Amino acid sequence: PGTGARAGRWPGKGAEEMAEAVSSPALYRCIECNQEASELYRDYNHGVLKLTVCKSCQKLVDKYIEYDPVIILINAILCKAQVYRHILFNTKINIHGKLCMFCLLCEAYLRWWQLQDSNQNTAPDDLIRYAKEWDFYRMFAIASLEQSAFFIGIFTFLWVKRLMTAKTKPKFILLLKALLLSSYGKLLLIPAVIWEHDYTPLCLRLIKVFVLTSNFQAIRVTLNINRILSLLAILSGLVLESSTVYFFQKMEWDVGSDCAFYRDQDF
Ligand SMILES: [Zn+2]
Repeated sequence: PGTGARAGRWPGKGAEEMAEAVSSPALYRCIECNQEASELYRDYNHGVLKLTVCKSCQKLVDKYIEYDPVIILINAILCKAQVYRHILFNTKINIHGKLCMFCLLCEAYLRWWQLQDSNQNTAPDDLIRYAKEWDFYRMFAIASLEQSAFFIGIFTFLWVKRLMTAKTKPKFILLLKALLLSSYGKLLLIPAVIWEHDYTPLCLRLIKVFVLTSNFQAIRVTLNINRILSLLAILSGLVLESSTVYFFQKMEWDVGSDCAFYRDQDF
């Protein structure tokens, strides 16, 4: 397989743009063995493309460039390391900022919704409306802080580990991008809340597990480290996040965090 490839299918990436990307000195990675590669495919003659074979593992450097985005998404949901390498190293996908914002809005909405459930307010209408709006901003700020704590925990762990082993400089910018992109599972929070039913707490929990698995895989692929280190990085992120939640609860702010929520649900 792999001959007569169609050009990459990422939105906004025309054939010319792809040809330009191939001739540029930017390095790609083999999705199978993580070896660096200078090109993903070669354009022999007007539209006759041949996918490059990796010199190190003799497999196609990136079979996903001819796959449909839906197939790529399904493979990403299955947390395949190859598809993570494809997205992080071989595409110029640049939506992590917007995606992060949107995920935080989803999380803020979830917390805000839980707050509405628990609050029985008897104040006049306009006062309630004002308070509700303020609550949403507050939840957004708290969700952002907890997310930052999670990332800081991960980065601190990796930084300390790097000091101890004095290995090559980790690519922290790329890692941040990878973490933001791999948190896309949080978008599922909105449907989980909208179609509310008896199993909503279970769904929320599964979403959390899915996002963490996805983050775990992103760290592993980006830094090319083993599973144990990646797991420890995720755990240190979780520890710092939980400490932040604990701190907020000590301050007696009504944060509607995941942890507090599950405790209330008698799960
Ligand atoms: Zn290879």
